Parts: sequence; structure tokens; C-alpha cells
Amino acid sequence: MNLEDITTVKSILSKPQKIVIIPHKNPDGDAIGSCLGLNGFLISQGHDSTVIAPNDYPKFLKWMPGNESILNFEKENSQSKKCLEEATVVFTLDFNDLSRVGQLESVLKEKEATFIMIDHHQQPSGYATVTYSDVRMSSTCEMVYNFIEYLSEIDKIDEEIATNLYTGIMTDTGSFKYRSTSSRTHRVIADLIDRGAHNMEIHQRVYDTNSPSRLHLLGVALSNMVILPEYSTAYITLSQEELDKHDFKKGDTEGFVNYGLTLEGIIFAVIFIENKEEGIIKISFRSIGDFSVNEFARKHFNGGGHDNAAGGRSDMSIKETTKQFVTLLESYKNQLCS
Ligand code: 5GP
Ligand code: MN
Repeated sequence: MNLEDITTVKSILSKPQKIVIIPHKNPDGDAIGSCLGLNGFLISQGHDSTVIAPNDYPKFLKWMPGNESILNFEKENSQSKKCLEEATVVFTLDFNDLSRVGQLESVLKEKEATFIMIDHHQQPSGYATVTYSDVRMSSTCEMVYNFIEYLSEIDKIDEEIATNLYTGIMTDTGSFKYRSTSSRTHRVIADLIDRGAHNMEIHQRVYDTNSPSRLHLLGVALSNMVILPEYSTAYITLSQEELDKHDFKKGDTEGFVNYGLTLEGIIFAVIFIENKEEGIIKISFRSIGDFSVNEFARKHFNGGGHDNAAGGRSDMSIKETTKQFVTLLESYKNQLCS
């Protein structure tokens, strides 16, 4: 954040505000962690602050401190709308385009308030009054830590805020192993532990919550995997029928896409998941090295994200989608096999 923005934010927050904080649709650990962490901080500063999630999120995030105060825009619609109407300041966290908030999009587009964006995805759009965007950052949670530091309030990070920020950094870095994990990330993490985050317990609460049906679904995903060595690519499909058969719950497929990248020589991994209710195929893209899945998802699948992790969607059937995908690979052969 530059000095001008810091001054602007300090001035906005110098008097009590009515604040709403919003993560992207289908929020992940970084989205929920950053929102709850910032929410705890703003409340400690005397503001009236509420997190409104566009829709539901996985059970393995529902233990996080302050979780019970989150409003679900789909389920608690009138309460959420009322809260938004009263808000003078809107923080948007872990996304950078209003198309990422589902049904909240039209509400936010019409909303007159001071918008503050904190985000680490590629190509931010310009809807906010203050845009704190840095694509080199490991996570939005690391940026919320920086944000609090910019305001010279680092000592306000208590055990609950530390727990939320730790969780988001952990999930967005694949437990501190992705390329965006810097020495600074580790220093922030160390400080969060010093401030009360129980690291081992957090790992267990997020990752050691498998159900038998989820592990069986993973088995189906792995046996469906198609490996295309000629394109250094591996992809997985999961149909609605397969999901239903394994009692699919939100979040159950989290991390499945990464298995493709553990194969020697594979640098591009994809998962196609059918969602009959929305009539789409939700796609996750992951890569190792210089192949930008953000560009790929943006260009061909109405999505985006980061260089090495992105998402998108298709309106065609799963069969047609994978057919289109494999055809596309031919034109990326040089990049994929260099
Ligand atoms: P995931 O594959 O885990 O859903 O998402 C990977 C990354 O891409 C995340 O940072 C997520 O926020 C982003 N992402 C996922 N889906 C979309 C999408 O449809 N559009 C954009 N712009 N980003 C997405
Ligand atoms: Mn993130």
C-alpha cells in the first residue's frame, strides 16, 4: 500500500464506521480467514463490522474464531441486505472483480460507499476507492497482516485474529510450499504463532477431517485421471452422479486437482467437476513453473486467478468440455513441453 492510501485509510478509520467485509463466492480458507481476521481487528478499533459471505462454505472452515457471526447472503438475505444498506465502508477481500461475488454483484454495483480492496489475484479491476493489490503476496491473509502493520496497530493482533490469518496463509500456500511463500511469509507466520495461533491444532482442524465418503470420492477421482504425457498434462473429471453417489458436501473435492502435479513430468493439472444445479462444469487449473493458468482460464474458460492456480467454468457437458480442452492443448504444446 502506498503512503497516500495509508493516509486515506487512516482518515476513514479515524471515526467509528459501519463496515461490511465481503469474500468471494465459494470462499476458501484465505477468503474466510482474511475476512474474520480483519473483522476482529476493526471491531477492536471500535467499528461496527460484519462479514457477509456470498454463499455457504466448507465445514472444515466453520470452526474459525468469529465464524458464527458471518452472514450468508443466500440464507440470511434480508439481514444481509439491511446490513449492506447501512454500511459506509465496504471491504472486498481475496477477489478483484465484482463478477466474483455471485448474487451480491448487483447489490455491490449499486452500493454507494467507500470500497477498499485487499487482494493478491492478477489483473484487478478498478471499482475500489483504495486498491491494495499485490500479486506477489502468498495470500490475502498476509496482506491483512501488512494492512494492520501499515496502520501501526500490529499489537492489536490477538489470538483469534492470529488464528484466522494463520489459517488463510496455510491454506493458500499449500502449507507454506507454493512459489509465493517468501521468507517474509514465514516471519509473519512465526509472529502469528507468537501471538497465539496454535499451528498444529489449526492443521488438524483443516486437514484431518476426512469422511470415508470423501476418501472414496478421491479414489474415484484418481481412477478417472487422464494422463497426457505429450502435453505434460493430467486431468480429472467428476460427474454429478459420482458426487451424489459419495454423499458430496461442499469442500470435499478441495485439493484433488493437485494430485496430477505429483506425477513426474506433469506441469499442468486440471479438474472438471459437474454442477447440475448451476448447469455448469466448474474447473480448477494448477501448474508448475512458467505456464500461466490465469491466462489460460481467462482466455478459454471465463475465469482467472493466479499464474499457478486458477479457476473457470464451462457451459457445455463434461464430455464436450474435456474434448475442447484437449484440442486446445495442441496450441500450447510448445509452452507445455519446453
Ligand atoms: P480454485 O481452483 O481453488 O477454485 O481456485 C484457484 C484460484 O483461482 C483461487 O485463487 C480462486 O480465487 C481463483 N478462481 C477460481 N475460480 C475463479 C473464477 O471463476 N474466476 C476468477 N477470476 N478466479 C477464479
Ligand atoms: Mn487467496
